[in-house]
Amino acid sequence: MKITVLTLFPEMYENFLKTSIIGRSIERGLAEVEFVQIRDFAPGNYKHVDDTPFGGGSGMVMKCQPVLDALDSVKTEDSYTLLMSPAGTPYSQAKARELSKKDHLILLCGHYEGLDARINKHVDELVSIGDYVLTGGELASMVIMDSVIRLLKGSIRDTSTDEESHENGLLEYPQYTHPADYKGDLVPEILLSGNHAKIREWRVLQSLRLTEKVRPDLYAKHEFTEEEKKILKKFKDCE
Ligand code: SAM
Repeated sequence: MKITVLTLFPEMYENFLKTSIIGRSIERGLAEVEFVQIRDFAPGNYKHVDDTPFGGGSGMVMKCQPVLDALDSVKTEDSYTLLMSPAGTPYSQAKARELSKKDHLILLCGHYEGLDARINKHVDELVSIGDYVLTGGELASMVIMDSVIRLLKGSIRDTSTDEESHENGLLEYPQYTHPADYKGDLVPEILLSGNHAKIREWRVLQSLRLTEKVRPDLYAKHEFTEEEKKILKKFKDCE
């Protein structure tokens, strides 16, 4: 997969692209990341990329011309362009999965007061990473890159992502590691039993209970599998 980032601040990505799973995936050639400096497309000596908003108000708005010329310089028939925006569709694991199948992603980052609204017509989608305002789209684009790159085949073991939070609309069951007894705080005994069927059952139940408790919104719209229904019934009958 190729990822092109359109930004005024490419230096923000340096460590991110060299570190951990993302660094290794890029090193192995699973993802190729390139940057386009939007300022390079601004005319004149001052290279202004922004201007004051029509109608008045504070801050500066990024202009159509440098942004759209930068976009046109990299767009092809295979590209899919996402504009980072607090007014975008809320980003999700399902969207990350969908994007991980694309050949070429273009991530367009706004800054200052944002971008001229006419730019919206030139992208495939506006994406928000949450209900808060960032200084720029750079962190949002890193969130998208991280969540997409780790899903690429060969990035991490396929099975590692299968049961993760949000993959099946639920949160993941709690995980524990050594020691089994940390200052008197014990790991649930079932996990030490070696009984894989029982461990699986416990994990499914914990995943359901955790989601119900901390994310009732997700739980309410969850479509229960036959296995989940069976486990819930079994433990309800025991209570
Ligand atoms: N004036 C804009 C508003 O009120 O909606 C906010 C602009 S923000 C300071 C600058 C840029 O950061 C945006 O153009 C966008 O690219 C990015 N950004 C800020 N919050 C974001 C979010 N929650 N998700 C995605 N991108 C965001």
